[in-house]
Amino acid sequence: MCRVIPAKAGTYRRPPAQAGTYPNPRPLPPARDSRPSRLRKARCYTPRRGAILSKTDDGAAESRAAGADGAPRYADVVVDAPTGKPGDSFTYAVPPHLSVRPGHLVRVPFGRRTLRGVVTGLRDVPNVRYTREIASLEDDEPFLSPERVALGIWIADYYRAPPFEALALMLPPGVRGGRRRYLQAVDDAPPGAEERLPKGARRLLAHLAANPGRHRAAALAATLGPWTANAARALIEAKLVREWTEEPEVKPPPSRKRPSRKAAAGKPLLVPAASASDLRARAKERPRASRRADLLRELARFPDGLDAADARKRFSWPVVARVVQEGLAAVAPNPAANPSPLLPTPDQQAALAAIERAMDDPSVEPRVYLLHGATGSGKTEVYLQAIAHCLAQGKRAIALVPEVALTPQTTQRFEERFPGQVGLLHSGLSPGRQRDEWRRVLRGERGVVIGPRSALFAPMDNPGLIALDEEHEWTYKQDDAQPRYHARDAAERLAALTGAVVVLGSATPDIVTAWRAERGAVGKLALPSRIERSGAPASLASVDVVDMREELRDGNRSVFSRLLRERLEETMRAGRQAILFLNRRGAASAVVCRNCGHAMRCARCSTALAYHEPQDGRGAGRLRCHHCGGARGAPARCPKCRSPRIRYLGLGAQRLMDEALRVAPGARALRWDSDAASDARAHERILRAFASGKADILVGTQMVAKGLDIPSVDLVGVALADVGLRAPDFRAPERAFQLLTQVAGRAGRGSRPGHAVIQTYAPEHYAVRAAAAQDYEAFYAEEMERRRELRNPPFSKLVRLLVAHTDDRTAAREADRLAGLLRQTAREWGMSEAEVIGPAPAYPPRVRNAWRRQIVVRAPEPRVLLDKVAVPPAWRVDVDPGRAA
Ligand code: ADP
Ligand code: ZN
Ligand code: ZN
Repeated sequence: MCRVIPAKAGTYRRPPAQAGTYPNPRPLPPARDSRPSRLRKARCYTPRRGAILSKTDDGAAESRAAGADGAPRYADVVVDAPTGKPGDSFTYAVPPHLSVRPGHLVRVPFGRRTLRGVVTGLRDVPNVRYTREIASLEDDEPFLSPERVALGIWIADYYRAPPFEALALMLPPGVRGGRRRYLQAVDDAPPGAEERLPKGARRLLAHLAANPGRHRAAALAATLGPWTANAARALIEAKLVREWTEEPEVKPPPSRKRPSRKAAAGKPLLVPAASASDLRARAKERPRASRRADLLRELARFPDGLDAADARKRFSWPVVARVVQEGLAAVAPNPAANPSPLLPTPDQQAALAAIERAMDDPSVEPRVYLLHGATGSGKTEVYLQAIAHCLAQGKRAIALVPEVALTPQTTQRFEERFPGQVGLLHSGLSPGRQRDEWRRVLRGERGVVIGPRSALFAPMDNPGLIALDEEHEWTYKQDDAQPRYHARDAAERLAALTGAVVVLGSATPDIVTAWRAERGAVGKLALPSRIERSGAPASLASVDVVDMREELRDGNRSVFSRLLRERLEETMRAGRQAILFLNRRGAASAVVCRNCGHAMRCARCSTALAYHEPQDGRGAGRLRCHHCGGARGAPARCPKCRSPRIRYLGLGAQRLMDEALRVAPGARALRWDSDAASDARAHERILRAFASGKADILVGTQMVAKGLDIPSVDLVGVALADVGLRAPDFRAPERAFQLLTQVAGRAGRGSRPGHAVIQTYAPEHYAVRAAAAQDYEAFYAEEMERRRELRNPPFSKLVRLLVAHTDDRTAAREADRLAGLLRQTAREWGMSEAEVIGPAPAYPPRVRNAWRRQIVVRAPEPRVLLDKVAVPPAWRVDVDPGRAA
């Protein structure tokens, strides 16, 4: 909670930092009424949004280099101040020996510390009386282009996040990630200082005193709860606790020794260009124990060549480049590859024509396109050819995918089409690799960047095209950390700043995107049919919906309906493959004692623990909390009544697999869920094993729904479609429809007709019916009716405000207070269309010992209201949230 320090309403208190440097002046909110408001007090004062933009716009700031003769001598810097007030930029003087440009990462004095900051603009005349000097540049070149600076400021403004957090998205990987904040109780605390402290602060102080030494702030928050952040602030202010940050030296990753992979079909090869004996001799040159020597020996052992990408991964890019330069090896296309563009179908041709026209002519509107087409309709081919056009224009391209680990096939196609030009950026890479790749993009060595939402922020100047595959996926929204941005909106913003064209691809577009396309704000491109393969017409799978209530009535208590059982047997007899889909993460959803009914719950969150099966399917599993990640062994006896009769309710992947093997004895089954595969490599391994026919049945959760393109799959079974269908979130039907449509789309990718079987207790639900009919229009029409009735997006915008506190009453009081203030402000300003919903307990109501309350503001433009109310920093603000419940 915001700790309120008595101050006169409306006065501006300087942040703790300014010893010398004054914050840039900014108009204060008009004192509308004279009643003392706890919120308007200075400690909680949030600066007016947009303040920074207007500053760089005021004509004083410009983009010439500062420092040189006649150049601007002052710079506006957004500082990374962990305890300071967010939202400020400060003016610093540029010392004569530095040449500073916007986008530079600098170090600046801040209070008694030296902090990092990003230069957002330059000015000739300081707008404050006294300025301090920039201490140093972190790098000679600015990391951020002017457009990127503007994008960061837009993100901070729109998503109501601290500007440095938003700009940091665009800094090299590791610059911030490794930074750690530490806290330690001071030895010489002034006597009596504790007395006026809030309860949380006293509790934290007791913890720190009981455990002397330094503590990582993040570790405290993880073990004790999010309340520690506010408690720590109060303690630091009371000078009872010292805080500092450290930036650990990130060492280059050690070279990994692992055996050579045989080059996958279609991947470029690194082939030896000298005899094996020559290579071995050259490997003996100094230094002998180097990665170059290792690579040469490896080339000597594999005369057919190595997978070039793999070799770069293992021996580093520069080493491979050097060996190629020395004429000892060459990169050659793999004879099995077919990287040339395919002849576009008429539909693809029409889509490409529209996209290319916009790329060629910056005055063409609209500049955002929805590419609506089922899986297999040729969307990826359109991205690839549009990117080729973009590269031919001398521009570069960004392709975003929802999750790299789940789309290895897509990324591989990009690498094949543009060998050596594709930069893959994601958090699964080692820190060193991430930095290398980032630098390579910065130096212009990559024409195409592909990756998850964060790849949008790769330092790529001059982007001509930004493609988002599966644009409806919510992995594009960052909701676990600030800024809580959506990559689609950020991409559109970046495109507007750079003149790039945006292509949004999906089989089941987000309702809001489809609505924008209907209104013409987004261009509509459609690929209505699947690409025909090997002469046979590729039709959509036939979809059957099975009412599980009827199965029960007829005495079938199995997980398998009679139809699914028949289809599975048929598929196995025909020697084809089947996917069984479980709409749930983890295994059994609840663990219940059959004797006393006690349900195992997380001790810190108000949620049931889920049983997770062991990875190999043998031995005892673990109970895991899906909210705090806490885990413990599955109990042999009920902790309450000591009965051994413990029951796992619900259906897990392992159980589904066991049952499938009972239906089809002798079949080979493979499990693919987060328990069986925890990292990208494990995902790829499972995927490859199934695609190469090493298993007949793939059993999995959400993951199997994405991007799997395997022609030999004839059958897809959805074990139970209901899970998630009736969640309190207004987007639940949309999500269910998207998932079911996607899953059904997995069957019949080959020349044979596919079958999908959806089992459900709610066969009449419109999302199930529309998914079964593969009818997007029907779903859209019905869903829009509901959205209109309830005034949900696109008929409004939402902002979700969430507060958490270890004491439920405190959380409730704070939530009531803010909701009251929001309502009152809306009334006073006559905003009759702004609704303040709640406060209500968030779902789940307690996480990591903290009780959570939420308020949702629903309005045509919620920010108009939020700009008028100072939301204390303890509140988590989520603009356009992925979940409203
Ligand atoms: P989507 O991205 O919509 O799932 P893809 O681009 O992956 O569709 O296309 C599906 C399949 O059809 C791929 O195997 C692709 O190589 C093939 N394909 C796409 N476009 C063409 C084309 N114009 N001619 C022949 N094959 C194509
Ligand atoms: Zn019991
Ligand atoms: Zn928990």
